[in-house]
Amino acid sequence: MKNNRLPLIVGAFISIALIVAIFVVYNYKNNQVNSATDEQPKTTETNKTTEQDSTATEKPDNTETPAKPEQQPDENGYLPNQTLPTEPTYINGILLANKIYPLPSTFAPEENPEAREALNQMLAAAKQQGFDLVAFSGYRSFEYQTTLYDNYVKRDGQAAADRYSARPGYSEHQTGLAFDIGERGKEDVWLTEEFGETPAGQWLFAHAQEYGFILRFPQNKEEITGYMYESWHYRYVGKEVAKEITKKNITLEEYLGVK
Ligand SMILES: [Zn+2]
Repeated sequence: MKNNRLPLIVGAFISIALIVAIFVVYNYKNNQVNSATDEQPKTTETNKTTEQDSTATEKPDNTETPAKPEQQPDENGYLPNQTLPTEPTYINGILLANKIYPLPSTFAPEENPEAREALNQMLAAAKQQGFDLVAFSGYRSFEYQTTLYDNYVKRDGQAAADRYSARPGYSEHQTGLAFDIGERGKEDVWLTEEFGETPAGQWLFAHAQEYGFILRFPQNKEEITGYMYESWHYRYVGKEVAKEITKKNITLEEYLGVK
């Protein structure tokens, strides 16, 4: 009896072992295929051929997007242990400064003359419509931003300060291309969301693109830009780019393909 059953038991054992082996090999191959597809680079909208105004394109046109950081930003929007770079980041000739792509501490371009000229034209056009707009803050040096940020942290604490003020090296004001704008006589709504609801703020929002400016931190885009809505902060990018960004209702980060 026992001797007769032995070949049966051995046969069954071998069959099971074979099935397990086939299963293991199949799974291994499948995993390899999957990890290969994970490594495919995501397509981004970085290779723009649109003609750009000269300001934003003074630097050589590098069409490559910088490598995306591997780390996740912390609750304040900054990368842990981030250090300032030695070179600023230009994508398609456009200077980018945000919490993920900071500027060197030595980067001190002063106010951009082309941006100032466009600003003056915009403010003059506003005045013709009866809006007395003024740029009350423009270029800020690294040192000045340091003082400013430190004071905000002392006043409101770091987490709160990080939502409305950039750490030194991370401010767009250091590019010489950004301006905070308000209406004369309505200083009480400067640097508030309310400015965006005034006729002057709405005129500015509607017409900025015609002069090469974008509202840099729009409503409901904090996840992308790293900042809450700032109805007063405008960034010069040149007319072509400003019109495209405005038409598509996107942020500079999305336009440059870094978000
Ligand atoms: Zn600003």
